[in-house]
Amino acid sequence: MPRAGAWKPLLARIRGPYYDPWESVSEPERRRAIAARLDEYVRHARTLTFYRKRLAGYKKGAEHPLERVPPLGSSDLRKLLPPKSRRLLVSGERGCSVFQSGGTTGEPKSALFSHEELEALALPNARGFYACGLRSGDRVANLFAVGGLYMTFLHIHRMLQEFGCVNFPFSNHTPPDFVRGAAKAFRINCIAGIASVAVDCLRGMAKLGLEGIRIDKLYYGGEHLYDSEKEELKRKFDIRTILAPGYGTVDTWYIGYQCMKCPTGVFHAHDDQTYMEIVDEGSGRHCAAAPYGSGITSPSGDGASQSAAAEAGMLYATPFPRRLTPVVRCRVGDRASWLREPCPCGRATPLFRLLGRGDDVLRIGYDSIDYAHVQKAAGGVKGLLSAVQMEKRRVAGKDQLVVRAESEAPPSRRKALAKTLAERIVRDRPTLRRLAAEGSVWPVRVEILPQGGIPRSARTGKLARVIDALR
Ligand SMILES: [Zn+2]
Repeated sequence: MPRAGAWKPLLARIRGPYYDPWESVSEPERRRAIAARLDEYVRHARTLTFYRKRLAGYKKGAEHPLERVPPLGSSDLRKLLPPKSRRLLVSGERGCSVFQSGGTTGEPKSALFSHEELEALALPNARGFYACGLRSGDRVANLFAVGGLYMTFLHIHRMLQEFGCVNFPFSNHTPPDFVRGAAKAFRINCIAGIASVAVDCLRGMAKLGLEGIRIDKLYYGGEHLYDSEKEELKRKFDIRTILAPGYGTVDTWYIGYQCMKCPTGVFHAHDDQTYMEIVDEGSGRHCAAAPYGSGITSPSGDGASQSAAAEAGMLYATPFPRRLTPVVRCRVGDRASWLREPCPCGRATPLFRLLGRGDDVLRIGYDSIDYAHVQKAAGGVKGLLSAVQMEKRRVAGKDQLVVRAESEAPPSRRKALAKTLAERIVRDRPTLRRLAAEGSVWPVRVEILPQGGIPRSARTGKLARVIDALR
């Protein structure tokens, strides 16, 4: 039995201004440590037959040691992991948790975490939350997804316990009126959850009235929140801090975290946890850090900075703590670019900018429509909420872009809102406009739905932002 009073919250163990010493390790020292970790991890992965041949191109000591190693895609992982195969398993399945992802489209994909690995997630998780201003006095509503083999809620719960916060394990399944009741009774000041779930919950609470409730911190993950959405939240709910404490995937590990100085889309790399590469897949070349001025000092902030486009590539991750199923060079599916400048917060962990899903693009005719473009257009239409979905349809042999947005406006105003949004979407898209005028694609179709009208995933509450039935 533990002695009463022997337990100390994690924060009581912090020495120095940051969560842990790694955040202030010098550049040469961090390079050496990362190279050693990568080398050890490659040796561990080579114990599997699958990696022996695949890692033949690993070049110890090179600037980019994994340059000649083929990346692992989602479909590879599906084929290599249980229930399909055990080729990526170092030992038996005992003592681990099985999670699944990607259930909304196609076949789900498994991820196996040993209990030690789940415990080890507390470090990057807590590092991110600490950098984003979470403190032990905070009273936190955990709205992350639980059930259906989903992972996040579990380790956020664990971290909140460690942090010594007052913890409210609601999950994504609790209706807003219930959260509102508890928020009032227990003075909850902080909400943590998947972006769309947290935002929907706040809106649902606001409909019922926010008197006696004061939420000053919103921590989100799982999806991106754009500046237009953040501004709306700050204005409507008077929230001061809206940040993403952890960016990562269940296939890999935590990859990045924000701090109080990070603009939207900019993250510190957890470079002691995950070996991160940004690769231009056209040339196979590693991307250099973005030129000065496109980084943290730039207020572009919508996660889709054009100035950094030349240096953008696909993000590959090699997560050192994943021992049970080693994952070398996983193609995460997001585009990113390195930033050259150090962060004004003083942390030495390097910065990168996330530029959205590599597949958040629909090809309409021969124009490529980026989700960020549609989101930005919707953000500029007064009366629309932030939930937006775009879909590619094929009707009578021609492409059509269908955009769905939500609004609290009465049904009589929806037609006008749809027209305004459709105009804004094509305004800066001369190619799309011309294709529609020529009749080679259908005009953009905008559907305005009431709040919550765009279907969410039953398992996670996430909104399917981009649908391509033809993919
Ligand atoms: Zn920082």
